Amino acid sequence: MLAERSLTVARLRVRPLDVPIRRPLATSAGTVSSAAIVAIDLMTDDGPTGCAYIQVYAPWALGPMAQLIERLGEFIAGRPLAPLEIEERLQGKLKLPGAQGFTLMALAGIDMAAWDALAKARELPLASLLGGAPRPIAAYNSNGLGIIGEARAAGEARELVAEGFRAIKVRVGYPDAGTDLAVVRAVREAVGADVTVMADYNQALRVRDAIDRIRMLDDEGLLWVEEPVAADDAHGHADVRGAVGTAIQTGENWWGPHPMAEFLRLRACDYGMPDAMKIGGVTGWLRAAALAESAGLPLSSHLYPEISAHLLAVAPTRHYLEYVNWAEAILAQPLAIKDGEAIASSAPGSGISWNEEALTRYAV
Ligand SMILES: [Mg+2]
Repeated sequence: MLAERSLTVARLRVRPLDVPIRRPLATSAGTVSSAAIVAIDLMTDDGPTGCAYIQVYAPWALGPMAQLIERLGEFIAGRPLAPLEIEERLQGKLKLPGAQGFTLMALAGIDMAAWDALAKARELPLASLLGGAPRPIAAYNSNGLGIIGEARAAGEARELVAEGFRAIKVRVGYPDAGTDLAVVRAVREAVGADVTVMADYNQALRVRDAIDRIRMLDDEGLLWVEEPVAADDAHGHADVRGAVGTAIQTGENWWGPHPMAEFLRLRACDYGMPDAMKIGGVTGWLRAAALAESAGLPLSSHLYPEISAHLLAVAPTRHYLEYVNWAEAILAQPLAIKDGEAIASSAPGSGISWNEEALTRYAV
C-alpha cells in the first residue's frame, strides 16, 4: 500500500496512434474513420504509471499534440503527484496562450493520467478515490448510426441494440428535413418502442431552421436532440429550446466549466454532456458536475467511456454514458457493458491500461 507515501511525477511518455474503428462515423460535421489518439503515460518516481488517452480527431494533429503534451510535462516533472496542484500549475503556464482548444486538450490528458496514477497508487478505482464507488451507469450505444441513409440506418440500429443496449443515437442533419424525419422513423420502426432513441445534429443548423426541423421531430419520441446549432451559441440553443417540444442536449464542446455555466445561466439546454477531455479532465469534470448539481441538470458523458463510467458514478445528476468502442483495441481491459449498463472497472485506476502490443502496432 502506497497510501502514506507521497509520490513525485518523474516524466511523461507520449505516444501518437492511429487506431482503426469498426464502424466509421459520418456526421453532419465530418467523418471519423479512425481514432487519432495520443496515449499518455505519467511516470512517477518509485510508484505506478498513470495512463490516459485523448482523441485529436485527425491524424495530422497527432504530432503537434504529442509535442505540446511533452512540453507541458516538463513543467510538472519533479513535482508532487497532486492532480489539483498540477492543474493549477499548468493553467498558470497557459494563462497567456489561453487554456482552450489544443492547450486544454493537452492539459486534460495530463490531468487524467495524474488522477489515474494517484488512484493506482492508492489501490482504488477512480470512483472510490473520489469518494464514491463504481456502479452501473445507463449507457447508449453511440457506435455507428451516422449519416448513412434510411435503409442502412434501420439495419445498423438493430445491430447496435443486439450488442446489449437499450438506447441508441442516430445522426441527423441531412440536406433536407424530410430525410431527417424518415431516418428517425426508420430507426424507431427497426428497434421498437422500448428502445430509447436520441438524435444528434452535430451543429448542422441555423436557429430558424433548427426550430422548424425539431418541431417536425417533436412527436417521434426522441429522448433528446443534440447540438442543433453551433456548439458555442448559447443564445441560439436557448432560442431553439424555448420553441420546440423535444429536450435539447449539448455540452460535448464546452471548453471547461465556464462555457457550461453560461449555458446554464441562459437555460439553454435540458441536458448536458461534457467531454472528459474538453471539460478539462477529471478536475474539470468535477467542477462541471457541481454546476450540474446546482442547476438540476442531468449529466451525461461524451466519448471516453472508460473514465466517464467513474466520473458519472460521482456525478449527483448522472444520466447516460455515451458508449463508443473506439479505444478498445489499445486497452488491456475494455469497458464492460451488461444489460444496457456500463460497469466501471473495479481495478485500481480509471479503467485505462494498455495493450502494449496494440500500441506498437498502431504507432504513428
Ligand atoms: Mg454529439
